[in-house]
Amino acid sequence: MILSNKAKQIKPSSTLAITAKANQMRSEGIDVIGFGAGEPDFDTPNHIKEAAITAINAGFTKYTPVAGTVELKTAICKKFKEDNGLEYKPNQIVVSNGAKHSLTNAFMAILNKGDEVIIPAPFWLSYPDMVALADGVPVIIKTTKETNYKVTKEQLQKALTSKTKALILNSPSNPTGMLYTKDELQMIADFAIENDILVVSDEIYEKLIYDDAQHFSIAQLGEEISKRTIVINGVSKSYAMTGWRIGYTASTEEIAKLMSNIQSHAASNPNSIAQKAAVAAIVGPQQCIGEMRTEFDKRRKYMVERINAIPNISCITPKGAFYLFIDISSTFGKSYNGKVINAASDFAAGILEEQVAVIPCEDFGFDTHIRISYAISQENIQKGLDRLEKFVKSLS
Ligand code: PMP
Ligand code: GLU
Repeated sequence: MILSNKAKQIKPSSTLAITAKANQMRSEGIDVIGFGAGEPDFDTPNHIKEAAITAINAGFTKYTPVAGTVELKTAICKKFKEDNGLEYKPNQIVVSNGAKHSLTNAFMAILNKGDEVIIPAPFWLSYPDMVALADGVPVIIKTTKETNYKVTKEQLQKALTSKTKALILNSPSNPTGMLYTKDELQMIADFAIENDILVVSDEIYEKLIYDDAQHFSIAQLGEEISKRTIVINGVSKSYAMTGWRIGYTASTEEIAKLMSNIQSHAASNPNSIAQKAAVAAIVGPQQCIGEMRTEFDKRRKYMVERINAIPNISCITPKGAFYLFIDISSTFGKSYNGKVINAASDFAAGILEEQVAVIPCEDFGFDTHIRISYAISQENIQKGLDRLEKFVKSLS
């Protein structure tokens, strides 16, 4: 039987796989520290849970409109206005089963076979597979540490072809934690407008930013770029709601309609109860975000200092999200237990023997780096970093 060739090219998500592996080891009684976490370690705030319980008790348990309830879409429009100064009407919003689903819908709605999508590396690992699933061709641009892993105008120009349809922007970035400034976004907006391409702007970590960082949406930079942008966002990270599966997009009505049509066949509406919870998250008290951010910030500072004190590894200070993107290339050629490290995956395999799980960044387009998350407890961070330090210092 010949199954789908397209499906066969899709790799499983390694972030999810590594997190699952660490959890499995833990359930077998192995004291592993998992730095893979791509989700807040905090519980969903109570007022959000209460809204869901109320929804269940009130019988809000049936199909809703495909693209989400008017109540939720209106709340999302209000959020865009207040947080980003963006004016959208409810029919420009599509609510889906997590931002992952929103992204998948977006690529299916805009790509034709062979259309190219520029993806600056390091990138969140799902983007190339999502593009490929929609018959598009990922075009990877490798950024450098010198530009804080942000794409330059020259790099964009070089990647441009007659088939370029869109580019993906992820600010704050997973895995680097970097944010594009307003000027940098203006450069990207000019490039998109000049060359008639769309921007898929993944802003899921918008609210998890530190120090003096400011988040801007590229769609804020005028009508011309706004109509070319599909903003991706959701409640997963900001409100510790990864399991609830609510993500959303803001785009032109035309694109929103296409995405909604696709979703009407693939998934219908997102979970009705989770939609009620998302309304409570978006319009309810926001101090839960501040509390989470304060804790992430403490961990971030502690980890950056410790990592940069270890010889042969280093990281830049992230300004957002909850990851450290660590350059481990100076360990290449060194060995542990007789095994030589030549790539991030070798490093990750080695440190797993010391009961620490990290994400090797080959699947993020950077085989010289690993990603570690600070969405784990301070106690585990300390323990895990002690082991990491010991491992790196033992390399010979
Ligand atoms: N975009 C980025 C950059 C992410 O890190 C994630 C986390 N999985 C997502 C999108 C998807 O989020 P969700 O859990 O809402 O699908
Ligand atoms: N976005 C998270 C991460 O990068 C969650 C895992 C996933 O969805 O792949 O780890």
